[in-house]
Amino acid sequence: MTALLTLKDVCAGYGGSVVLDGLSLQVNEGEVVCLLGANGAGKTTATRVICGLVKPTAGDLTFAGKSLLRVPSYDRVNEGICLSPEGRQVFPDMTVRENLLLGAFCKRAKADRAKTLDEVLSVFPRLAERALQKAGLMSGGEQQMLAIGRALMGKPRLLMLDEPSLGLAPKLVMDVYEAVSKTAKLGISILIVEQNAEVALAAADRGYVLADGHIAASGSAAELRGSKLVQEAFLGASQAKRNSTRDRRRT
Ligand code: ATP
Repeated sequence: MTALLTLKDVCAGYGGSVVLDGLSLQVNEGEVVCLLGANGAGKTTATRVICGLVKPTAGDLTFAGKSLLRVPSYDRVNEGICLSPEGRQVFPDMTVRENLLLGAFCKRAKADRAKTLDEVLSVFPRLAERALQKAGLMSGGEQQMLAIGRALMGKPRLLMLDEPSLGLAPKLVMDVYEAVSKTAKLGISILIVEQNAEVALAAADRGYVLADGHIAASGSAAELRGSKLVQEAFLGASQAKRNSTRDRRRT
């Protein structure tokens, strides 16, 4: 497998506070990888480091074999790193179509934007139906699809999705993840950052757990799903165990 993105011992934070403390991970060409972490673990900070919005204080990161340390964030988009940010951040007063076209503003994508728009609308037929509607009038699930579609308009080699399930009803989470799996079939590498381990591990080939600023566990999606750490911290195993012990005591 060929490495696309590699982070090696990355440290980063805000002012004096350390959020990432030796983070190492890798996303290979064509892979779907998830980065799981609790609230405030530093998942969004990791995406900001990869995009170039937060500068690491130590460590290295490479993309397609080249160090990103001196590459400004706008050139990272031109290398093919595109982010669908936490909270979607769509422009509410602009139409769906206008929001999508903004995603193709970079040099890499501008010339092909009409063709890419057709491709994105075929992945998200719902966005095609709503193309002329203002983005702010769409449901949370539709806005999430729009945020992913806008990132795809940049013709990513690496698509990063920050908490795509956040705040969505279970049915909408399924719809969003169906779109993620269609995107993966296009051969685009995907890094999903999530608290919702259940859906992220169902979509991913491999995953990492971020805790205390570094990787606490990693493995294939099946290995992580079976691990005690993931079971207890993300899949509610200890709660389920406590509930079943309590239920046995009651009977
Ligand atoms: P969540 O799921 O809540 O978004 P996360 O894992 O994405 O959490 P981050 O958003 O990366 O975590 O935040 C990690 C830590 O950094 C938190 O303690 C947060 O308060 C802090 N933090 C995030 N952004 C900033 C900022 N711009 N300035 C200062 N501290 C920040």
